Amino acid sequence: MQAILLRTGAKQVELADVPDPTCLKGQVLIQALETGICGTDREMIQRQLVDVPPGQDYLVLGHEALGRVVETSAKSDTLKVGDLVVPIVRRGCEKCNACNTGHVDYCYTGQYAERGIHKQDGFFSTYYADWPKYLVKVPPELEELAVLAEPLSVTVKASQIAMSVLRRVKFGGSYSQPGKRERALVAGHGPIGLLGMLLLLEKGFEVFVLGRRKSGDFQRSIIEKLGVTYLDATTDQTAQVVARQGGFLLILEATGLSEITFQLANYLGRNGTMVLTGVPRGPKTFQIDGNTLMANIVRTNQAIVGSVNACAGCFSKALQHLAVFKQKYPQFMSKIITARYKPQQFQEPFGKKDKDDIKVVIDFRK
Ligand code: BGC
Repeated sequence: MQAILLRTGAKQVELADVPDPTCLKGQVLIQALETGICGTDREMIQRQLVDVPPGQDYLVLGHEALGRVVETSAKSDTLKVGDLVVPIVRRGCEKCNACNTGHVDYCYTGQYAERGIHKQDGFFSTYYADWPKYLVKVPPELEELAVLAEPLSVTVKASQIAMSVLRRVKFGGSYSQPGKRERALVAGHGPIGLLGMLLLLEKGFEVFVLGRRKSGDFQRSIIEKLGVTYLDATTDQTAQVVARQGGFLLILEATGLSEITFQLANYLGRNGTMVLTGVPRGPKTFQIDGNTLMANIVRTNQAIVGSVNACAGCFSKALQHLAVFKQKYPQFMSKIITARYKPQQFQEPFGKKDKDDIKVVIDFRK
Protein backbone atom coordinates (compact mmCIF):
# COMPACT_ATOMS: atom_id res chain seq x y z
CA MET A 1 0.00 0.00 0.00
CA GLN A 2 1.01 3.62 -0.34
CA ALA A 3 2.07 5.85 2.53
CA ILE A 4 3.42 9.36 3.03
CA LEU A 5 6.55 8.96 5.12
CA LEU A 6 9.65 10.69 6.37
CA ARG A 7 12.98 8.85 6.39
CA THR A 8 15.71 9.41 8.95
CA GLY A 9 17.83 12.35 7.79
CA ALA A 10 15.50 13.26 4.90
CA LYS A 11 14.44 16.87 4.29
CA GLN A 12 11.24 15.95 2.49
CA VAL A 13 8.39 13.48 2.78
CA GLU A 14 7.83 10.88 0.07
CA LEU A 15 4.96 8.73 -1.16
CA ALA A 16 6.27 5.17 -1.01
CA ASP A 17 5.10 1.56 -1.06
CA VAL A 18 5.11 0.00 2.40
CA PRO A 19 3.87 -3.42 3.58
CA ASP A 20 0.13 -3.69 4.29
CA PRO A 21 -0.63 -3.57 8.02
CA THR A 22 -1.07 -6.85 9.87
CA CYS A 23 -4.42 -6.94 11.60
CA LEU A 24 -3.72 -8.87 14.81
CA LYS A 25 -6.40 -10.89 16.57
CA GLY A 26 -8.58 -8.43 18.44
CA GLN A 27 -7.61 -5.52 16.17
CA VAL A 28 -9.60 -3.58 13.61
CA LEU A 29 -8.46 -2.86 10.03
CA ILE A 30 -9.27 0.64 8.85
CA GLN A 31 -9.28 2.15 5.39
CA ALA A 32 -8.12 5.77 5.40
CA LEU A 33 -10.64 8.39 4.28
CA GLU A 34 -8.97 11.64 5.31
CA THR A 35 -5.83 12.53 7.23
CA GLY A 36 -4.98 16.10 8.20
CA ILE A 37 -1.61 17.84 7.96
CA CYS A 38 -0.59 19.44 11.25
CA GLY A 39 2.08 21.91 12.36
CA THR A 40 3.78 19.02 14.17
CA ASP A 41 4.24 17.20 10.81
CA ARG A 42 5.77 20.33 9.28
CA GLU A 43 8.11 20.78 12.26
CA MET A 44 9.35 17.19 12.01
CA ILE A 45 10.10 17.70 8.31
CA GLN A 46 11.73 21.13 8.72
CA ARG A 47 13.90 20.04 11.61
CA GLN A 48 14.55 16.55 10.23
CA LEU A 49 13.46 15.21 13.58
CA VAL A 50 11.93 11.82 13.09
CA ASP A 51 11.34 9.22 15.81
CA VAL A 52 11.14 6.06 13.72
CA PRO A 53 9.61 2.79 14.97
CA PRO A 54 12.19 0.20 16.12
CA GLY A 55 13.79 -1.59 13.15
CA GLN A 56 12.57 0.93 10.55
CA ASP A 57 14.37 3.81 8.86
CA TYR A 58 11.18 5.79 8.24
CA LEU A 59 8.03 6.97 9.99
CA VAL A 60 4.65 7.08 8.27
CA LEU A 61 3.36 10.52 9.27
CA GLY A 62 -0.20 11.56 10.09
CA HIS A 63 -2.01 11.69 13.42
CA GLU A 64 -5.29 13.45 12.57
CA ALA A 65 -7.38 10.85 10.84
CA LEU A 66 -10.80 9.65 9.80
CA GLY A 67 -11.22 6.12 8.47
CA ARG A 68 -13.73 3.34 7.80
CA VAL A 69 -13.65 -0.10 9.42
CA VAL A 70 -13.11 -2.75 6.71
CA GLU A 71 -12.34 -5.78 8.86
CA THR A 72 -12.69 -6.60 12.52
CA SER A 73 -11.76 -9.56 14.63
CA ALA A 74 -12.48 -7.57 17.77
CA LYS A 75 -14.87 -9.20 20.21
CA SER A 76 -16.42 -5.86 20.99
CA ASP A 77 -19.76 -5.39 19.29
CA THR A 78 -19.40 -1.62 19.32
CA LEU A 79 -17.42 -1.46 16.05
CA LYS A 80 -18.51 -3.16 12.84
CA VAL A 81 -17.49 -3.16 9.19
CA GLY A 82 -18.59 0.12 7.56
CA ASP A 83 -18.36 2.22 10.73
CA LEU A 84 -16.53 5.56 10.60
CA VAL A 85 -13.81 5.93 13.22
CA VAL A 86 -11.20 8.40 14.42
CA PRO A 87 -8.08 6.96 16.06
CA ILE A 88 -6.57 8.63 19.10
CA VAL A 89 -2.85 9.47 18.85
CA ARG A 90 -1.09 8.05 21.89
CA ARG A 91 -0.41 4.38 22.70
CA GLY A 92 0.12 3.90 26.41
CA CYS A 93 3.17 2.47 28.19
CA GLU A 94 0.93 -0.15 29.85
CA LYS A 95 2.97 0.26 33.00
CA CYS A 96 1.54 3.28 34.78
CA ASN A 97 -1.81 3.92 36.37
CA ALA A 98 -2.69 6.69 33.90
CA CYS A 99 -2.18 4.45 30.84
CA ASN A 100 -3.86 1.47 32.47
CA THR A 101 -7.01 3.48 33.18
CA GLY A 102 -7.36 4.97 29.68
CA HIS A 103 -5.62 8.30 30.43
CA VAL A 104 -2.67 7.78 28.08
CA ASP A 105 -2.34 11.55 27.67
CA TYR A 106 -1.17 11.71 31.30
CA CYS A 107 1.36 8.84 30.99
CA TYR A 108 3.70 8.96 34.00
CA THR A 109 6.64 6.99 32.58
CA GLY A 110 7.00 8.89 29.31
CA GLN A 111 7.41 5.51 27.60
CA TYR A 112 4.38 5.99 25.36
CA ALA A 113 4.33 6.01 21.57
CA GLU A 114 2.39 8.46 19.38
CA ARG A 115 1.16 7.34 16.01
CA GLY A 116 2.69 9.40 13.23
CA ILE A 117 4.89 11.35 15.69
CA HIS A 118 6.83 9.14 18.05
CA LYS A 119 7.89 5.53 17.41
CA GLN A 120 4.72 4.24 15.70
CA ASP A 121 3.56 4.70 12.13
CA GLY A 122 0.74 7.13 11.60
CA PHE A 123 -2.27 7.41 9.36
CA PHE A 124 -1.10 8.80 6.01
CA SER A 125 -1.47 5.31 4.53
CA THR A 126 -4.24 3.54 2.63
CA TYR A 127 -4.86 1.18 5.57
CA TYR A 128 -3.93 0.99 9.23
CA ALA A 129 -4.77 -1.47 12.01
CA ASP A 130 -5.56 -0.62 15.62
CA TRP A 131 -7.05 -1.79 18.88
CA PRO A 132 -10.69 -0.86 19.53
CA LYS A 133 -9.78 1.01 22.74
CA TYR A 134 -7.89 3.54 20.61
CA LEU A 135 -10.77 4.10 18.17
CA VAL A 136 -13.74 6.39 18.58
CA LYS A 137 -16.87 5.81 16.51
CA VAL A 138 -18.09 8.74 14.40
CA PRO A 139 -21.76 9.39 13.54
CA PRO A 140 -22.18 9.31 9.71
CA GLU A 141 -23.51 12.89 9.63
CA LEU A 142 -20.11 14.14 10.87
CA GLU A 143 -18.09 12.55 8.06
CA GLU A 144 -17.10 15.87 6.46
CA LEU A 145 -15.81 17.39 9.73
CA ALA A 146 -14.56 14.41 11.75
CA VAL A 147 -10.92 14.80 10.64
CA LEU A 148 -11.00 17.85 12.96
CA ALA A 149 -11.75 15.63 15.98
CA GLU A 150 -8.04 15.30 16.84
CA PRO A 151 -7.15 19.03 16.98
CA LEU A 152 -10.47 19.66 18.72
CA SER A 153 -9.73 16.91 21.28
CA VAL A 154 -6.53 18.78 22.18
CA THR A 155 -8.54 21.96 22.86
CA VAL A 156 -11.24 20.03 24.72
CA LYS A 157 -8.58 18.74 27.10
CA ALA A 158 -6.96 22.18 27.43
CA SER A 159 -10.30 23.81 28.21
CA GLN A 160 -11.18 21.06 30.72
CA ILE A 161 -7.91 21.84 32.50
CA ALA A 162 -8.61 25.57 32.39
CA MET A 163 -12.10 25.11 33.80
CA SER A 164 -10.85 22.82 36.55
CA VAL A 165 -8.16 25.33 37.56
CA LEU A 166 -10.68 28.20 37.40
CA ARG A 167 -13.10 26.29 39.61
CA ARG A 168 -11.03 27.39 42.61
CA VAL A 169 -11.98 31.03 42.01
CA LYS A 170 -15.68 30.50 41.29
CA PHE A 171 -17.82 31.67 44.18
CA GLY A 172 -21.57 31.17 44.39
CA GLY A 173 -21.62 30.08 40.74
CA SER A 174 -19.79 33.18 39.35
CA TYR A 175 -16.28 34.51 38.93
CA SER A 176 -15.67 38.27 39.42
CA GLN A 177 -19.30 39.42 39.59
CA PRO A 178 -22.63 37.61 39.41
CA GLY A 179 -23.80 37.31 35.80
CA LYS A 180 -20.70 38.95 34.30
CA ARG A 181 -19.42 37.62 30.97
CA GLU A 182 -15.76 37.02 31.69
CA ARG A 183 -13.08 37.71 29.11
CA ALA A 184 -10.96 35.01 27.49
CA LEU A 185 -8.06 35.48 25.08
CA VAL A 186 -7.06 32.94 22.45
CA ALA A 187 -3.51 33.53 21.24
CA GLY A 188 -3.02 32.20 17.71
CA HIS A 189 -5.62 31.16 15.17
CA GLY A 190 -4.51 27.92 13.60
CA PRO A 191 -7.00 25.03 13.93
CA ILE A 192 -6.36 24.70 17.69
CA GLY A 193 -6.92 28.42 18.29
CA LEU A 194 -10.04 28.60 16.11
CA LEU A 195 -11.65 25.50 17.60
CA GLY A 196 -10.67 26.70 21.09
CA MET A 197 -12.34 30.02 20.32
CA LEU A 198 -15.63 28.21 19.55
CA LEU A 199 -15.37 26.13 22.73
CA LEU A 200 -14.89 29.28 24.83
CA LEU A 201 -17.81 31.02 23.12
CA GLU A 202 -19.92 27.96 24.00
CA LYS A 203 -18.76 28.30 27.61
CA GLY A 204 -20.14 31.86 27.67
CA PHE A 205 -16.87 33.85 27.60
CA GLU A 206 -16.44 37.13 25.77
CA VAL A 207 -13.70 35.93 23.44
CA PHE A 208 -10.78 37.88 21.95
CA VAL A 209 -8.36 36.39 19.43
CA LEU A 210 -4.77 37.58 19.17
CA GLY A 211 -2.99 37.31 15.83
CA ARG A 212 -0.94 39.25 13.31
CA ARG A 213 -3.43 39.71 10.48
CA LYS A 214 -4.57 43.03 9.09
CA SER A 215 -8.20 44.00 8.60
CA GLY A 216 -9.67 42.32 5.48
CA ASP A 217 -7.58 39.16 5.86
CA PHE A 218 -9.56 35.94 5.25
CA GLN A 219 -8.91 34.28 8.63
CA ARG A 220 -9.43 37.52 10.53
CA SER A 221 -12.72 38.18 8.73
CA ILE A 222 -14.24 34.76 9.51
CA ILE A 223 -13.32 35.30 13.18
CA GLU A 224 -14.82 38.79 13.26
CA LYS A 225 -18.03 37.58 11.57
CA LEU A 226 -18.69 35.58 14.74
CA GLY A 227 -18.65 38.76 16.82
CA VAL A 228 -15.26 37.93 18.29
CA THR A 229 -12.81 40.83 18.77
CA TYR A 230 -9.59 40.35 16.82
CA LEU A 231 -6.52 41.92 18.43
CA ASP A 232 -3.64 42.66 16.09
CA ALA A 233 -0.43 41.77 17.93
CA THR A 234 1.58 44.07 15.67
CA THR A 235 -0.15 47.08 17.27
CA ASP A 236 -0.52 47.90 20.95
CA GLN A 237 -4.17 46.87 20.96
CA THR A 238 -3.92 44.06 23.50
CA ALA A 239 -2.14 46.23 26.04
CA GLN A 240 -4.84 48.87 25.52
CA VAL A 241 -7.65 46.35 26.02
CA VAL A 242 -5.96 45.06 29.16
CA ALA A 243 -5.40 48.60 30.47
CA ARG A 244 -9.03 49.53 29.75
CA GLN A 245 -10.78 46.40 30.89
CA GLY A 246 -8.38 44.57 33.19
CA GLY A 247 -6.71 41.31 32.25
CA PHE A 248 -8.22 38.11 30.93
CA LEU A 249 -9.56 35.46 33.29
CA LEU A 250 -8.49 32.79 30.83
CA ILE A 251 -5.82 32.71 28.15
CA LEU A 252 -5.56 29.81 25.73
CA GLU A 253 -2.10 29.79 24.16
CA ALA A 254 -2.02 28.23 20.69
CA THR A 255 1.02 29.87 19.11
CA GLY A 256 3.89 27.58 20.10
CA LEU A 257 6.01 30.73 20.51
CA SER A 258 7.71 30.94 23.89
CA GLU A 259 8.60 34.63 23.73
CA ILE A 260 5.01 35.66 23.01
CA THR A 261 3.73 33.28 25.67
CA PHE A 262 5.70 34.81 28.51
CA GLN A 263 4.55 38.27 27.41
CA LEU A 264 0.99 36.98 27.45
CA ALA A 265 1.34 36.26 31.15
CA ASN A 266 1.23 40.07 31.60
CA TYR A 267 -2.28 40.05 30.16
CA LEU A 268 -3.66 37.63 32.73
CA GLY A 269 -6.08 39.21 35.18
CA ARG A 270 -6.43 38.56 38.86
CA ASN A 271 -7.03 34.87 39.58
CA GLY A 272 -6.44 34.20 35.87
CA THR A 273 -5.40 30.92 34.29
CA MET A 274 -3.32 30.44 31.16
CA VAL A 275 -3.20 27.06 29.42
CA LEU A 276 -0.33 26.39 27.03
CA THR A 277 -0.83 24.00 24.11
CA GLY A 278 2.00 24.88 21.69
CA VAL A 279 5.17 22.78 21.68
CA PRO A 280 8.20 24.84 20.61
CA ARG A 281 11.13 22.75 19.31
CA GLY A 282 14.81 23.47 19.85
CA PRO A 283 16.27 25.99 22.30
CA LYS A 284 15.53 29.73 22.30
CA THR A 285 17.03 32.21 24.73
CA PHE A 286 15.57 35.61 25.51
CA GLN A 287 15.31 37.95 28.45
CA ILE A 288 12.28 38.30 30.68
CA ASP A 289 11.74 40.21 33.90
CA GLY A 290 11.45 37.12 36.08
CA ASN A 291 10.86 38.99 39.33
CA THR A 292 7.83 40.87 38.06
CA LEU A 293 6.45 37.76 36.39
CA MET A 294 6.80 35.66 39.52
CA ALA A 295 5.52 38.41 41.83
CA ASN A 296 2.41 38.89 39.65
CA ILE A 297 1.69 35.18 39.49
CA VAL A 298 1.88 34.91 43.27
CA ARG A 299 0.22 38.21 44.22
CA THR A 300 -2.77 37.65 41.95
CA ASN A 301 -3.25 33.88 42.32
CA GLN A 302 -2.49 33.12 38.72
CA ALA A 303 -1.94 29.68 37.23
CA ILE A 304 0.02 28.71 34.13
CA VAL A 305 -0.49 25.13 33.10
CA GLY A 306 0.47 22.97 30.12
CA SER A 307 -1.74 20.53 28.24
CA VAL A 308 -0.72 17.93 25.67
CA ASN A 309 -2.52 15.25 23.69
CA ALA A 310 -5.98 13.89 24.58
CA CYS A 311 -7.59 10.61 25.59
CA ALA A 312 -10.53 8.79 23.96
CA GLY A 313 -13.00 10.59 26.25
CA CYS A 314 -11.86 13.99 24.89
CA PHE A 315 -12.26 12.68 21.31
CA SER A 316 -15.86 11.66 22.08
CA LYS A 317 -16.52 15.12 23.55
CA ALA A 318 -14.85 16.68 20.48
CA LEU A 319 -17.28 14.82 18.20
CA GLN A 320 -20.23 16.07 20.27
CA HIS A 321 -18.91 19.63 19.98
CA LEU A 322 -18.41 19.23 16.22
CA ALA A 323 -22.10 18.35 15.90
CA VAL A 324 -23.04 21.52 17.82
CA PHE A 325 -20.57 23.71 15.88
CA LYS A 326 -21.90 22.35 12.57
CA GLN A 327 -25.40 23.34 13.55
CA LYS A 328 -24.61 26.71 15.20
CA TYR A 329 -21.75 27.97 13.03
CA PRO A 330 -22.30 26.30 9.62
CA GLN A 331 -20.57 29.03 7.58
CA PHE A 332 -17.54 29.14 9.81
CA MET A 333 -17.19 25.35 9.98
CA SER A 334 -17.43 25.06 6.20
CA LYS A 335 -14.30 27.23 5.96
CA ILE A 336 -11.96 25.43 8.38
CA ILE A 337 -10.88 22.69 5.96
CA THR A 338 -9.39 24.90 3.29
CA ALA A 339 -8.06 22.26 0.88
CA ARG A 340 -8.23 18.52 0.14
CA TYR A 341 -5.49 16.86 -1.92
CA LYS A 342 -5.13 13.40 -3.43
CA PRO A 343 -2.28 11.35 -1.91
CA GLN A 344 -0.42 11.63 -5.27
CA GLN A 345 -0.49 15.43 -4.92
CA PHE A 346 1.23 15.28 -1.51
CA GLN A 347 4.18 17.44 -2.58
CA GLU A 348 2.03 20.54 -2.93
CA PRO A 349 0.52 20.75 0.58
CA PHE A 350 3.67 19.51 2.31
CA GLY A 351 5.84 21.88 0.27
CA LYS A 352 4.20 25.16 1.15
CA LYS A 353 1.52 26.59 3.38
CA ASP A 354 -0.74 29.21 1.89
CA LYS A 355 -1.42 32.14 4.23
CA ASP A 356 -5.17 31.48 4.03
CA ASP A 357 -4.86 27.76 4.75
CA ILE A 358 -6.34 26.58 8.03
CA LYS A 359 -6.60 22.79 7.86
CA VAL A 360 -5.36 20.97 4.78
CA VAL A 361 -6.15 17.27 4.42
CA ILE A 362 -5.09 14.36 2.24
CA ASP A 363 -8.24 12.73 0.91
CA PHE A 364 -7.70 9.00 0.34
CA ARG A 365 -11.11 8.63 -1.38
CA LYS A 366 -9.76 10.62 -4.36
C1 BGC B 1 -0.61 16.22 18.71
C2 BGC B 1 -0.65 15.57 20.07
C3 BGC B 1 0.74 15.15 20.49
C4 BGC B 1 1.67 16.35 20.43
C5 BGC B 1 3.09 16.06 20.88
C6 BGC B 1 0.43 17.32 18.66
O1 BGC B 1 0.53 17.80 17.37
O2 BGC B 1 -1.87 16.78 18.40
O3 BGC B 1 -1.52 14.48 20.04
O4 BGC B 1 0.70 14.61 21.80
O5 BGC B 1 1.70 16.84 19.11
O6 BGC B 1 3.71 15.05 20.16
